[in-house]
Amino acid sequence: MYEPYPTPEISLEHKRYRYSSLWDYAKQDLRILLFFITIASLIGLGIGHFWICIAIAFAVFMVMQLRALYLVNDWIANRPYDVPPNLNGIWGALLFNIYRSQRQERVVQAEMVGLIDRAQSSLVALAEAVILTDELHQIEWWNPAAEKLLGVQELDRGRNILGILRQPAFVEYFNNMEQQPDGIKLKSSIHEDRYVQIKLTRFGLESRLVVAYDVTRVHNLEQMRKDFVDNISHELRTPLTVLSGYLETFTDQEDFNPRWKRPFEQMQAQTRRMNALVNDLLLLSRLENDKQLAKNQIVDMPSLMNQLFDDAQAYNSEYGHILNLDIDSHCDLLGSDMELASAFGNLITNAIKYTPKGGVITIGWHDDQEHGYFTVQDNGIGIDPKHLPRLTERFYRVDSARSRQTGGTGLGLAIVKHVLMQHGAHLEVESQINQGSCFKAVFPKERLCQAEA
Ligand code: ADP
Repeated sequence: MYEPYPTPEISLEHKRYRYSSLWDYAKQDLRILLFFITIASLIGLGIGHFWICIAIAFAVFMVMQLRALYLVNDWIANRPYDVPPNLNGIWGALLFNIYRSQRQERVVQAEMVGLIDRAQSSLVALAEAVILTDELHQIEWWNPAAEKLLGVQELDRGRNILGILRQPAFVEYFNNMEQQPDGIKLKSSIHEDRYVQIKLTRFGLESRLVVAYDVTRVHNLEQMRKDFVDNISHELRTPLTVLSGYLETFTDQEDFNPRWKRPFEQMQAQTRRMNALVNDLLLLSRLENDKQLAKNQIVDMPSLMNQLFDDAQAYNSEYGHILNLDIDSHCDLLGSDMELASAFGNLITNAIKYTPKGGVITIGWHDDQEHGYFTVQDNGIGIDPKHLPRLTERFYRVDSARSRQTGGTGLGLAIVKHVLMQHGAHLEVESQINQGSCFKAVFPKERLCQAEA
């Protein structure tokens, strides 16, 4: 008889046993055959029909083997998960090996199922909404938070995710995930006053994992900050206008005492600075609140470049730089001329301000069919590369004292960034300390249009 079926742990010992055992099992078959032949030859010699008895012995052995084969086939075909029939010889060995590997497989399967169960139950417990979509973007699985936050229901199973999260911003993000690596913020479609941050991750071929969480509190705080800055800027405007009006009236008086000249000049310079700050804050807050893409006005680039160049010449009078204008494109831009003029103007005044007297500044516009490039190149003080990632943050200055001295508000590049964002463009900065900087606004080809001849 065979030993009871061993447990399916995989170990070297078991493996050795498995492979060496086949001969042992075959020996059992041979022993039975030998036993039959011996009995048959004794009977055959006794009754005088030796070969007939031998043939009968072989026939009986064959019948036994065929029966075993039938039982093996029956087990594999009909009851593969039951304990196999108890057989001797190589058929028994075969059954033992099949049953053993089956059990090992089941253990691995059970482990996998356990793992999936654990992963699933942790996803279920998450406060973040999680949705899994298949290659066809159909919803496969979601957790309870997705029901609360995104309104997914049982009848949405198998539906296209874009049929459920239909906001144009999400559709745009879904189709161009790479452009927004941090995900997007959306107004919740089921709760009027709530906001969710959604992040997509691609896996497999085209399957996606959607993770969303509630950012209403952060959004409200951010909105409070924006409103506060907006209100205070508006409130400051009137007193500033009154102040600068009186300062001008005083200095224009014929009997104005020259002793007061310097303090009054300083007061005027400071009110101008505050005015610039308030104007920049208001512009920035307008740009931030207006998340729409800039309108598609055709901006005549040669004319805008010439106007910027003239303004730069005027501003340059006290710096004495050499200014160059380099236009090498027949394309115009689609966008808002006021906003673009303001952004480009900021880049130009920065180049003038941050270049020691007598520098060379080149303002350029060119394209390579794929992109349009507005560039401002200077040979000024340059910027240490460690500052570059934070340069477009509000009030971020490389050298605060110098920036104040030059009358900067610290908001110029933040405004540039927002204007460019609304035009689907971005800012690239190359700079070397004491060598100069190149600020490049890169526009996508959708924003370019061939200028009329
Ligand atoms: P600011 O009003 O202070 O000029 P910006 O936002 O326009 O503020 O610029 C942020 C900082 O970036 C500046 O304070 C300055 O240190 C640096 N910067 C901007 N443009 C240049 C430039 N062309 N060369 C050197 N530094 C620059």
